[in-house]
Amino acid sequence: MESEDKLEDMTISQIKSIMDIMQKASDAYLYIMDLTAKIYIVPEKMAERFAFDSVWMENCVEKLKTVVYPSDWDKLRQDILRCVSGEQEIHDMEYRWIDREGRVIWINCKGTVIYSAEGHRLLIGKVNELGKKARADNVTGLRREPRFRLDAEAVLRDKPESIRYIMRLGIDNFKEINEKDGTDAGDEVLWEVSKSILSVVPEDVSVYRLVADEFMIMDTVSEPRMDPNDVYNAIKLKIAQLVKEKNYNRFFTVSAGIMAEDFEGKNSDDIMMLSEFALNEAKRAGKNQMAVFNKNDYSGYLRQLDIRKEIRRDIANKFRGFAVYYQPIVDADTHELIGAEALLRWNSGKYGHVPPYVIIPIMEESGLIIPIGRFVLWEAARTCKEWQAVIPDFHVHVNLSYVQVHKSDLINDVNECINEVGLSPQSLVLELTESGYIETDKRIRELFKNLKERNINLAIDDFGTGYSNMRYLREIEAKTIKLDRSFVLQALNNEYDYTIICHIINMVHSVGSTVVVEGIEFENELEKMKAAKPDMIQGYLFGRPVNEADFRKLFLRKRLTQVSEQ
Ligand code: C2E
Ligand code: MG
Ligand code: MG
Repeated sequence: MESEDKLEDMTISQIKSIMDIMQKASDAYLYIMDLTAKIYIVPEKMAERFAFDSVWMENCVEKLKTVVYPSDWDKLRQDILRCVSGEQEIHDMEYRWIDREGRVIWINCKGTVIYSAEGHRLLIGKVNELGKKARADNVTGLRREPRFRLDAEAVLRDKPESIRYIMRLGIDNFKEINEKDGTDAGDEVLWEVSKSILSVVPEDVSVYRLVADEFMIMDTVSEPRMDPNDVYNAIKLKIAQLVKEKNYNRFFTVSAGIMAEDFEGKNSDDIMMLSEFALNEAKRAGKNQMAVFNKNDYSGYLRQLDIRKEIRRDIANKFRGFAVYYQPIVDADTHELIGAEALLRWNSGKYGHVPPYVIIPIMEESGLIIPIGRFVLWEAARTCKEWQAVIPDFHVHVNLSYVQVHKSDLINDVNECINEVGLSPQSLVLELTESGYIETDKRIRELFKNLKERNINLAIDDFGTGYSNMRYLREIEAKTIKLDRSFVLQALNNEYDYTIICHIINMVHSVGSTVVVEGIEFENELEKMKAAKPDMIQGYLFGRPVNEADFRKLFLRKRLTQVSEQ
């Protein structure tokens, strides 16, 4: 070719001058390696970035060795020797160098062999830092997500059975490290995690850095097969050692999501999605642990996402499918109907009736509990107002979620509702599930105070299922404590528990509050619990939750009989 002839007419100095000019317009490092005289000529910025001692170096192979990541050296040497011997004319390799700060840098080096006017064999080419194209990461020296996808795609297509495991590793609370200690500290942690991973997995297992604080390990080679459990535990141990060596100056942990089977028919998108799910499962379970991908858990998760979509759609459609049911609350002595608890029901076009214990957590997590909570409040207030025509001091209990307390203007909503409906505040009882928050959370304490000022009553729901601290009862002045059915069941079978219930009821009375016993289903349960002297009873024995029309028909009269009439 004509251009080749021209190059071959030039001396090395002439070629170098041209390359110096071209270098100015290039991000890559342009180099000449004189394979005959063993001289390596590199641009200044390359000598500065990597630990070369000059731009014109003799003993090129030796010089190159000083910047190459040790375990990549052999492969590189073989390739250069093939260029020297004339066995190949093209050099094209992706491997690692080490910069002046000791960081690992992925590079791609491409070159062509030509002859100079002096008759020397020259390898002329360029070195690109892959990090600059976001294919490798200069903080950790690992390759990045695009490269993982390429590699995964190839293995999944050609040899999915060779995958021992894929592990997605995430640093717990990484954002906090960056925010509290700065991004340099964050970089250091990333570097330490990558070092720990590389010290645990065999040299030829592929390790990548994904977005931000996540890493991916793809093992297609370990022999004997490594157990991902062991790999994760070894990484954890390594990190714990590092943290200890640095005197706990920076404490951090890692979680992992593992895929160990069923790779057939999947593509890299699937792997990214499923491994993320597994990692999130580990984080949801409390972090600093690993979770193995499980198909059933994943389909449950997809179902939840779909339910959330359906709920959102129904809410946008004027609360289609949602209804408020009411369950009677009766006086423990006279069995007179004194109120009802409003309970949410959802009849989905797609899923049919889905119970509250499924939908409430989904709505809490997505914030949808806020519009739904308003819907229940308004429905319950209107209904209560209507029923007061029959029983003037009828009151309605409405359940609240902590999400409503924290993320909406509850006091404002409640005010607006009772004003517009014209309901007296004393007729509304807001139920909040018992928890440790009640004692410690400022917003909850404020809410209680505000409600008290407005004469709205509060009930602590499900007492006996969790926190059960009597100390705060007096402080918060809840009007009512609701004892959960599980508590009642325990007391029925065990005298010791029964005595505790009696004491609790006494104590609640002594601070001027009242007690509802929930979940009374049978006559014997009623008799036993009545002896403990609660104030009110709620349970299937007096009536299951029903819709507004049925409640009117079945229960809306002064005194209820003990057997459910449904
Ligand atoms: P909860 O507030 O403790 O409501 C009482 C639950 O016990 C109701 O379940 C009720 O049907 C059930 N129950 C009543 N009597 C008996 C009985 O004799 N035996 C048995 N086994 N169960 C009885 P439901 O309606 O399924 O509601 C479950 C939970 O969902 C409620 O527990 C409450 O925490 C929550 N929830 C329901 N509606 C709402 C709502 O509008 N907003 C919020 N935030 N939570 C709600
Ligand atoms: Mg309740
Ligand atoms: Mg309850």
